[in-house]
Amino acid sequence: MRVTALTGAGISTESGIPDYRGPSGVWRTDPEHEKLVTYEYYMADPDIRRRSWLRRRDHPAWNAEPNAGHLALARLPEAWIVTQNIDGLHQRAGSPPERVLELHGNMYGAVCTACGVRSTTQEAIDRLLAGESDPPCLDCGGILKTATIMFGQQLDPATLTMAVHAAQECDLFLAIGTSLQVQPAASLVSVAVEAGARLVIVNAEPTPYDDLAEELVREPIGTALPRICAELIGADPS
Ligand code: NAD
Repeated sequence: MRVTALTGAGISTESGIPDYRGPSGVWRTDPEHEKLVTYEYYMADPDIRRRSWLRRRDHPAWNAEPNAGHLALARLPEAWIVTQNIDGLHQRAGSPPERVLELHGNMYGAVCTACGVRSTTQEAIDRLLAGESDPPCLDCGGILKTATIMFGQQLDPATLTMAVHAAQECDLFLAIGTSLQVQPAASLVSVAVEAGARLVIVNAEPTPYDDLAEELVREPIGTALPRICAELIGADPS
């Protein structure tokens, strides 16, 4: 059976990384957050950039470990994993990197917004801590940012195209730990269903796509996914 999983912040909460819109999500608890992840504000204000790098430095993903949900998906090496997460935990759990499509990029990489040259987030943070208040690109002097997609930015077209194919060509589409409120990621659910896939949503809270699902699973992801993935490969859940 061809499986495509769309994952969101909810798969990483059991690794200690807060989600956005869940009951303790940063969207509800941190009024500053929207500004720090919106491209327009970031580009316009050096102080937002400084605070954004510091926020990255303190991100819980640096010290997080993959949980049972990530590890269960890694037992399906042929599956496509389309993730909205920027924490790299699917790859660290053992999912083949070429099967993980990071729709919203990755927080460990940095990119120059002017010339596109790549560097690392760690390097930018080190420069900031060494005294540069707004470390520019070392090649062209342009504004640096993490290689993540902020609100107001387009997704990488090649990654999105691959994600659409993965949604169209699967027999089972799993939507896991996502409130399905961020587009275009959420629309992959409809793409999969219209192409004939069965849809299973594993999420603690209702989503706008629940009516399309063959099954809604409300259990914690770390409990539900080992069982679901074991059933898919016909193995013992442990
Ligand atoms: P979201 O916060 O909007 O929704 C997460 C959903 O997961 C919620 O409905 C919540 O009820 C559910 N959930 C949380 N923990 C769960 C668990 N253990 N078991 C079952 N359900 C659980 O997340 P989203 O839809 O991914 O959209 C948020 C955006 O924020 C994405 O674009 C993503 O890039 C970004 N983000 C990423 C991370 C990360 O990389 N780990 C963390 C926060 C936000």
